[in-house]
Amino acid sequence: MSSERSAQHLPGGIISTETTTKARPSYVLARAEVRAVDRVSPNFVRVTFAGTDLEEFGTPGDVFDARIKLVFPPASGILPEIARDTDDWWGAYLAVPEETRGSMRTYSVRELRVTDAATEVVVDFVLHLAPGLTGPASLWASRAAAGDELWMVGPRRGREDRSGIEYAPGEASSVMLVGDETAAPAIARILEDAPRDLRGLAFIEVPTAEDILPLDAPEGVEVHWLPRGDAAHGLRLIPTVLDCLGDTAHSKPGHTEIVVQDAEGEEMVWETPIYSESGDEAAGAASGERYFWIAGESGVVTTLRRHLVKDLGIDRSQVAFMGYWRRGVAMRG
Ligand SMILES: Cc1cc2nc3c(=O)[nH]c(=O)nc-3n(C[C@H](O)[C@H](O)[C@H](O)COP(=O)(O)OP(=O)(O)OC[C@H]3O[C@@H](n4cnc5c(N)ncnc54)[C@H](O)[C@@H]3O)c2cc1C
Repeated sequence: MSSERSAQHLPGGIISTETTTKARPSYVLARAEVRAVDRVSPNFVRVTFAGTDLEEFGTPGDVFDARIKLVFPPASGILPEIARDTDDWWGAYLAVPEETRGSMRTYSVRELRVTDAATEVVVDFVLHLAPGLTGPASLWASRAAAGDELWMVGPRRGREDRSGIEYAPGEASSVMLVGDETAAPAIARILEDAPRDLRGLAFIEVPTAEDILPLDAPEGVEVHWLPRGDAAHGLRLIPTVLDCLGDTAHSKPGHTEIVVQDAEGEEMVWETPIYSESGDEAAGAASGERYFWIAGESGVVTTLRRHLVKDLGIDRSQVAFMGYWRRGVAMRG
């Protein structure tokens, strides 16, 4: 996702750029206007988008963890024109001169409201604003106001083929959802869309206790919010998940401490039962009683992957591991 190549492929590129024989592209490239901005907690701002273009936006069924691409304006504040008469949204975006192109980033749909009057897409943005650790998306969100506009690339209503949804528990009767604040909107949406008899656990690491946001989970899913305070990313999440799975070696005296894998190059982990960014053979559609969905900072996800697959022997066909961002690396689409 951090590379141009991946942006065209399925992980970050929500929809591939394959040429389709159908008349209209499977995605919508919509000019989306900010209708409401709500600072829901110290580190989250909730932005509601609408606009006539969004009337063609929609997932085939439940939204779950559907991802969208957002294009933020460059320093001039002027949103570029992007050609829409092509199936290749990524190519159309790259065809805009770099100085005026702005920045593209990936987000989740926290809520999709479709009424006769309008289609509204709600996005929860994490505010990471510390100098040197911020980026165009977070900065834009911190200043967003009604009337501002962005480009939004998302699934076209009525199409089944490219939804940008990864959550696929198959026949699993119980799930474990694990993520940091960037994955919190997707986890909340998954739990609100899930069948009411779903059982399982969710672990969500957030910066502070005030960032714990309301979500309507099925009764059989225990949701654990883990405020990290001053701890580094992942250092509350990883041990809690491993303890829960019975991998307690890390907490015994004399045993290895948790070491969060560091950034190597720009690649991000993206390995689901049906897709592997690393080029490894995909494991095959989810099978088994239990399904794991894990997303967040790439090093944290890679560390969890190592423990789950190598130490605990959990089959890769039961897990989706997704790097949503990478410490020290700005995304490029
Ligand atoms: C499928 C998918 C769904 C996502 N859904 C959401 C979502 O719903 N809400 C959301 O807020 N994010 C979400 N993200 C993550 C978001 O795309 C990244 O955090 C992105 O880097 C933000 O862009 P930026 O311009 O703010 O920062 P960038 O320009 O990409 O990065 C600049 C610097 O900020 C750091 N950085 C980036 N994100 C964070 C962070 N969260 N905390 C601390 N430092 C950070 C980077 O390491 C880098 O050093 C999602 C990502 C994916 C792949």
